[in-house]
Amino acid sequence: MKTRPWQFRAVKKLFHLALVLQSTLATETLPPNELGKIPIITYHVFGAKESEFVRPPEVFYRDLLNFRKYGFWPLSLEEFITGEIKTPKGKIPVMLTFDDSSISQFRILENGEIDPHCAVGVMEKFRRDYPDYALKAVFFVMPKARYPNNLFGQPKWNKKKLEFLLARGYEIASHTYWHANFQIYHDRIEEQLAKTQIEIERYIPQLKLKALALPFGKYPPQEKITKLFQGSYKGFSYQNRVIFDYANKLSESPYSVTFDKAKVHRLHGFQGVFDKLFRQRAQSPQIFFVSDGLAKIITVPRSRKGEAKIPEGFRLQVY
Ligand SMILES: [Zn+2]
Repeated sequence: MKTRPWQFRAVKKLFHLALVLQSTLATETLPPNELGKIPIITYHVFGAKESEFVRPPEVFYRDLLNFRKYGFWPLSLEEFITGEIKTPKGKIPVMLTFDDSSISQFRILENGEIDPHCAVGVMEKFRRDYPDYALKAVFFVMPKARYPNNLFGQPKWNKKKLEFLLARGYEIASHTYWHANFQIYHDRIEEQLAKTQIEIERYIPQLKLKALALPFGKYPPQEKITKLFQGSYKGFSYQNRVIFDYANKLSESPYSVTFDKAKVHRLHGFQGVFDKLFRQRAQSPQIFFVSDGLAKIITVPRSRKGEAKIPEGFRLQVY
């Protein structure tokens, strides 16, 4: 059937209405639900040609705008680990993570300035443009991978870069020494993780890494999973509080009985995933963790009370 102009206009109008409705729904205030799921985004490379692993800088900036617009609020690794989530009331925490420490994430130009097109450059601009939005991010780094993934690819800037990230409130965590697949290299878990810690301490002596993102999302055999959390190599020890996978799923709430600190799920950072996330935000907001604005109180709907696991020093509140 041939579409007539009036039909086309009507369809276009309806489509527009749906969009307006969706964005209204996405900005309404949500009731607290601290057993809901948390999106943890995994970004990789920043560059001109968009793909599953590459995000152009202007598209990344738009992601940040969308998070802000749809009521998501950046969550730190520290908040996630301790459970003291400081997300404002009615907002959904989102953790931004960056894997593989490529130069595209943090590049210093010849003149000593941060490249405005690298991930850090884009985030710093966003912080200047929207000072009300407390942007945070976690970098899962590899000190001895091949260029351009060797701790952001500019060895002479290693110390300055790490100091800058920490001073600006970004966090550093482990992605192993050189992207070791622990399904294969499971006899070298302790070596890989201790060496990463040692290398980071060369630049920042007081920095203890607290989390690991598994390269390729690959796990060692079950009996070796404890080594992901702690171990030592030639007298040097390390300790991880949580292990992140690459399952492309929303994370469980850290207050939920279903939460597994050895398998914290992350989402893949590409367009299809973002589209789905914002659609879910508009159509089924009840699936998400929504903060009560109180760090030590865990607020949940009465019907879900039985699913809560309350850490020491925290209090449960139902409604
Ligand atoms: Zn990786």
